Amino acid sequence: MEQKRYPRLVCDLSRLEQNVKEVTRRCHDEGIRVAGVVKGVNGLEPMAERFVRGGCDQLASSRLSQLEKLGELGLPTMLIRVPMPSEAEDVVRIARYSLQSDPEVLDAIEAACLRQGKTHKVVLMADLGDLREGWWNKEELVEAAIRVERELPHVELAGIGTNLGCYGAIKPTVEKMEELAALAEKVEAAVGHPLEIVSGGATTSFLLVHQHRMPRKINHLRVGESVLVCYDLKYEWGVTDMDYLSSHVFTLQAQVLECRVKPSHPVGEIFVDAFGNRPTYEDRGDRRRALIGVGKLDMGSSARLLPREEGITYLGGASDLTILDVEDCPRPVRVGDILEFDISYSEVVFLTAAADVTVEYIG
Ligand SMILES: *Cc1c(COP(=O)(O)O)cnc(C)c1O
Repeated sequence: MEQKRYPRLVCDLSRLEQNVKEVTRRCHDEGIRVAGVVKGVNGLEPMAERFVRGGCDQLASSRLSQLEKLGELGLPTMLIRVPMPSEAEDVVRIARYSLQSDPEVLDAIEAACLRQGKTHKVVLMADLGDLREGWWNKEELVEAAIRVERELPHVELAGIGTNLGCYGAIKPTVEKMEELAALAEKVEAAVGHPLEIVSGGATTSFLLVHQHRMPRKINHLRVGESVLVCYDLKYEWGVTDMDYLSSHVFTLQAQVLECRVKPSHPVGEIFVDAFGNRPTYEDRGDRRRALIGVGKLDMGSSARLLPREEGITYLGGASDLTILDVEDCPRPVRVGDILEFDISYSEVVFLTAAADVTVEYIG
């Protein structure tokens, strides 16, 4: 019999689909359409399919390479990282919609449309304080919208949008959403027709839908994290009444490759670790430690692993292995054991793109 390979990322597709349904139903009830964001799972098709079945209105990614494979699934595609000028040709070829923040790139999109005999829909981004992409000056955004309407005949103004809770970690409040809504009204007045899309943000903005506090003018969200792992809202934001979203879509399975009692404090002269950090260690005496065969190369540097079993805690790790304290685990952990973990979005991003991780689908 062939040996099962580890590490494995097990994805429960029916839980994922259910999460998508829960989010899209709540959004649709409030007149909000949903772009399902698949960049967090490397655009993997079996999962993208469940975004479609779950009722999303568009499929979105920050990467054209992912969108290219997903065009077949029947939903309009949306590029959600504002494109580089060098991507203009591919944006028009691959995506139905894109987020935009620069007049020159819009010109390049128009030129690409002309060459390909196509039209392309754009969402102009407003920076409301998170200091990522988008126009800072609102007048300039309105001018850009007018220019799209009047001077770029192949570029369709689908609407405006914003992104919060990213670089600047700015909270999407009702006030921020009202700021976007007011800007949408300005743009509508300037161009003389309603906007198809007023896109209020990502998972963190969904919280306002959950609380029935989203201003009515906001009619679009771009949602990934909450349906994939639903970790941030529950564990970082402390939202306690979101049980309708499962945080167990993914399970990381890793195999124990060494398990020994060792001192908890390193022995010798402490200098710098393998990543140039000068760590400190708590001396808790001799404790049982397990090493598992998954590391930073597979899941990024921030290991927010949540062991499913009681009495197991994360100690640290290297590129190719992770060290756990298993002293308080009620059962003896042994070499060869498979340990299971809940993971956050950042681990999913890496694990779904890692060369040595097997992705397994159930459900
Ligand atoms: C990643 C991303 C999203 C989705 O964010 P989640 O927190 O995963 O819901 C939405 N909009 C933009 C511009 C993004 O880059």
